[in-house]
Order: sequence, then C-alpha cells, then structure tokens
Amino acid sequence: MLATDGDRLRCSLEAMARVGATADGGVTRLALTDEDRAARELFATWAREAGCEVRCDAIGNVFARRPGADPSLPPVMCGSHLDTQVNGGRYDGAFGVLAGLEVCRRLNDLAIATVAPVEVAVWTHEEGARFPSSCTGSAVFSGALPVDAARALRSFDGPTLGEELDRIGAAGAETPGEHPASAYLEAHIEQGSKLEASGDVIGVVLGIRGIRQLEVIFLGAQAHAGSAMADRRDALVGAADVIQRVRRIAREATGGASATVGQIEAKPNAQSVVPDYARMLIDARREGLEPPDGLVRQIRDQVAEVAAQDGLGVELKQHWTYGPIAFDEGCVGTVREVAGELGLRHLDIVSPAGHDAGYLAEVVPTAMIFVPCRSGISHSPAELAEAEHLEAGCDVLLNVVLRRARPA
Ligand SMILES: [Zn+2]
Repeated sequence: MLATDGDRLRCSLEAMARVGATADGGVTRLALTDEDRAARELFATWAREAGCEVRCDAIGNVFARRPGADPSLPPVMCGSHLDTQVNGGRYDGAFGVLAGLEVCRRLNDLAIATVAPVEVAVWTHEEGARFPSSCTGSAVFSGALPVDAARALRSFDGPTLGEELDRIGAAGAETPGEHPASAYLEAHIEQGSKLEASGDVIGVVLGIRGIRQLEVIFLGAQAHAGSAMADRRDALVGAADVIQRVRRIAREATGGASATVGQIEAKPNAQSVVPDYARMLIDARREGLEPPDGLVRQIRDQVAEVAAQDGLGVELKQHWTYGPIAFDEGCVGTVREVAGELGLRHLDIVSPAGHDAGYLAEVVPTAMIFVPCRSGISHSPAELAEAEHLEAGCDVLLNVVLRRARPA
C-alpha cells in the first residue's frame, strides 16, 4: 500500500487557505470572483508543475490530467470544489481538490505510471453561495442543467454567472460532459460528527440522503384583532400548529429523520389584524438512503388535518426534490477494502449534505471518502480537520485511484 506526503498536503491546504483568507481564520472565496480566479490559477500552476495537462470546459470546470500509458482510456477522476461560503472553512472542497493533486504528485515521486490517465477536477460553484443553484458545474457536466441556463443565473451581487465566467476567463472550449471518466472519487470532510463520535478515521460514503421541501400556504380570513375568538380563521395559528406537528413527526420517525420549517411569511403582518395568509417552507430528510416519501406523506396528512380543523384553505406543492443518491457499489467497495488494508478504522456513512459527487453519480461510477471534522462544524472559520485524518483520507484516495487506473 502506498502513502501520500501528509506535510506537502498540509502545506498546499495552508497556501490555498491564504487565497481569500479572512481575519478570523476563515476563507471567503465565492465562485467566479477574483479570489476564485486566484485559487484556480494557483491550482493550475501546481498541476502543470506536477506534469498535468490543464483544460477547462464551457462552464469553467477545470480538469488536470496526468497522462496514462494508454491515452485511449477514459481517466479515473477525482476532485471537488475551490469555492467557499462567505467566511467559510479551509477544508470544505479544497481538501478533495488538493488530495487529488497530492495523488498525482505522489505517483510522480514514486515514478509510478498508470495505464489509464488520472484526472483532478475542480467543479464550478458548488456552494450555492453566489448564484441561486448548488453544485452548478457538476450539474452541467452531468447533463442535469443546460449550460445556457447556468450562464443565465444571476448572482446575489449583480452579474450573471456567464458574465463572471467570461470576466475571469474561466470558460474553456470543451462541451461540458463531453469527455468520459471511468470512475469519480471525491474526498471531503464529513460536515457531521458521526466519525468523531465513533472514533473512526474514514467514512465510506454509501450515498447522499434525500431531501424534500414542501411549500404550504394557508388561506384564512382577515379580521380585526378585537374580533371574537370563536369565528376566526387565522392562517398563522394554523402554521404554528403545523410547525409543532412537523417537529413531532421527525422526532418520532423510526430510523431517524429531520424536519424543519425554516421560512415563514404572514400577511398582512400587521399588529392589530388576524392574518389571512401564511406561507411556510418545510424541509424533510430521513436518515439513510431510503426516499423520505413516508415522512412527506405524514406531513401532508397533518397539513390537511390542520386546515380542516381551522377552516383554512390550503395550497401545497413540492418546492425542491433532491436524491437520495446511492453511490456505485464497486467504487464504494474499493474504498472500504483499501481503508481496511491500510489499517484505518472506517464506518459506512450516508452524507447528510449534497456534493458534486451526487451529480457525477448519474453519469460515472462514483464514491466519496469522508474524514472527520471537529464537532461536525463546517461553513465556518472554526472548521477544522486533523492533519493525520486528512493524510489518511488522501492515502485511501491514492490507493483507490491506483487500483482503478492500474499500474502500467
Ligand atoms: Zn464541499
């Protein structure tokens, strides 16, 4: 089994964290800003120094290819993203990209040629922090989102994604998704605390859990705040009842679940008026890889019950649907096998958050490798992963990639 150079990986992560560094130790590197351009350039420089050929597709996804002995074979791909949230962490995304780079550097150190090429991908705008879409580059690569639709996304600070792509010169000639890959492996911090709790070093990621969001609108009757209580049709009281019921459903769900009313709006939202309108967004997620359909059904039933009980009109529609996504059994099996052979304690895990790997899984056999992050904290300057865990995750990536790309 091969080992990576943990010090070099740590130094690269530190250097990358200086691009867009904030005063309190975080990173602000929003997609397609000048900071993102600097990060892309730093990565491309390092990749070329490691003997890789670097190219971009039309949505700005970057691919650094270490050639294989048989150039006709599709590459074994790994990678992640370099954009961050506002005042985000140093490891989310950057770890997967720089672990991929370390794989290429280590293969160079050891003068190991592979039969298939090895490629490190940097996906455009994973975080959803600047444009109203997440995992945008990987969605376009997988065919889930047309390039033109992605280019038309307007940023929260003004310009469109296409305008920013052109401004920083990140778009290449290649049609997204045009070039195939034989596998995709993404190393990432867990962004949860299961590994920390179990004392395991490697999360063998089985897939990404499903998310459903429902929009519910209650329609009642507007009235004076001094009117009798008996005849009221108060839309906001109905919403409050639903919030309580949603929490109970998730708490009592067998196998575990999370359900949240994260957004609520009342009209006329005035101090002396009974609200006749309440809109809320309900987010429902089950533990594991089963679709959260049962959970959604229970929530729908409760919404209908509250509406009937309070004499409210109700409009209910699916707001957002994501996953669940099961990763490729062969790739997942190789991650588990390699972790075991390296003597690393590992745990099968389902990702609570979406990742580029979710879109890649639709077109390429895919798996992810998680490493612990302290207290599960991410999207924060307090995000922290231990150097030894990062190195262990990178070791797993190296050996999985080598097994897939095969020594020449
Ligand atoms: Zn990420």
